[in-house]
Amino acid sequence: MLKASSFKVSSKLVNSHTKIQSCYLEQDLKGQKVAIVGLGKSGSAATKLALARGASVTAIDQNEISESTFHINNGLLDLKNADLKTFFGNFDDKILKEADVVVVSPGVPLERYGIQSMICSGKEVLSELDFAAQIIPSYTKVLAVTGTNGKSTVTTFAGQILNHLGFETFVGGNLGVPLSDAVFHSPDRRSLEVAVVEVSSYQLEIPPKYFCPSVAVILNLTPDHLERHHTMKNYAAIKCRIFSQMRGKKIGVVPLGNPYLDEAVMDHADGVSLAWIGGSPGVNVDVEAKIAELKLPTIDCLSQLQLSELKAVGKHNYTNAAVAALSVLGLDIEIKAEAFSSMISKLTTLPHRMQVVHVDDDGIVWVDDSKATNVEATYFGLIGFELKSVVLLGGVAKEVEMKGSNGFEQVVEPLRHHRGVITFGFSGKMIQRTLCANGLTIPCLNAETLKDAVRLARSIAQRGDAIVLSPGCASFDEFRNFEQRGRIFQELAISSE
Ligand code: ADP
Repeated sequence: MLKASSFKVSSKLVNSHTKIQSCYLEQDLKGQKVAIVGLGKSGSAATKLALARGASVTAIDQNEISESTFHINNGLLDLKNADLKTFFGNFDDKILKEADVVVVSPGVPLERYGIQSMICSGKEVLSELDFAAQIIPSYTKVLAVTGTNGKSTVTTFAGQILNHLGFETFVGGNLGVPLSDAVFHSPDRRSLEVAVVEVSSYQLEIPPKYFCPSVAVILNLTPDHLERHHTMKNYAAIKCRIFSQMRGKKIGVVPLGNPYLDEAVMDHADGVSLAWIGGSPGVNVDVEAKIAELKLPTIDCLSQLQLSELKAVGKHNYTNAAVAALSVLGLDIEIKAEAFSSMISKLTTLPHRMQVVHVDDDGIVWVDDSKATNVEATYFGLIGFELKSVVLLGGVAKEVEMKGSNGFEQVVEPLRHHRGVITFGFSGKMIQRTLCANGLTIPCLNAETLKDAVRLARSIAQRGDAIVLSPGCASFDEFRNFEQRGRIFQELAISSE
């Protein structure tokens, strides 16, 4: 049985200027040339890891930031004397051709720099995730979570459950700290016992060779990121690569009856023991009774999980909590299902996910669901929320595969019992037209900006209502990212009285 350990990656440690030494990492890449493509958070973490593994590293990024800015921004000041060359802006193709290993950041599409043809030629081309996974000790249990919506929530819930149980657990990947940082900073790799890793579709575009979770979850799959993955069939196939190195008693958790995933699971989950979300073995949630049944494919035992104490807003969080619990059980670390019930009340969601941020003097409840960047996330946020609400929808709507539709017709039904809708931003008018053309029966007004939308919402909300920002759109017409949109909504909520 695994024991609670002292392993922890604190953000303070990660942000500090770090010496490229680690007495725990073998110099397994000594004498090898590693090229890192893309120098954001993941690429910088991979750069440090490659140097610590003894490689001669060339790091490149298309943005022409200065070398010193790169070093300062990424806490790499101590790399000055390391075996590292950096190129910003244009660079010679020879760099990638001559490298023994090419590590690609998730933000870099495979069409760039001939990466796709290098993969086809059999060259060692790895995602940052796979590069880190290469040296995760075999005794470390990895729980991986992907899907279109709810990844961060399930990852966070699973991490909280493991922590409450006394396991010092790394929680990161696509969320927060890159896996390369976790491997690099582990003060004693013997204690790297459990890693809960959120995985995006971008991190799976390069077929993994080393990433081999004990349990991998695909929570759901709906149209998103199609500008990069082009079709739902391709998007589903990419998500299923999370299973590609898993064999034997390793567990794959997938939703039952998703047409895109059904086919891809058959192709990619060969040899994995499958558990179904909404099937058996797997997770079945009775939302009305607030109970989940959990059954692993590997053990002949059915457990019940009481969810009534869950504080997180929204019925979709019952599923998220139950999937997190089943996944932790599936790690086979001798945890008893009964231990979960006392933890349910302690689970907390991240900011900007159906977060109650303010209750004003008129009793209006302000809810920030800015992380709802696609229409399905808004749909699930709304069906799980009981207060009569004025709902704010807008920003830049995602292109969806079903031609001629922006997907917003699906929120007409859950909006039926609410007070009103305010659309705003770049796609605001288009969303308003879609809702009206599909039989919306509640008032629907359009505003230019989020600020105007909040003002209008405040004028129609009544005592005891909620004002919910669940935009169903990307934020970049008005904001840097969903976090900034959420923060500004919170400020507007507090200053609205
Ligand atoms: P991700 O990391 O996949 O973007 P988050 O946990 O950050 O997911 O949640 C993003 C949005 O998806 C939130 O608006 C939330 O309300 C919604 N959401 C969370 N869990 C689910 C789920 N199981 N199904 C559908 N939508 C969900």
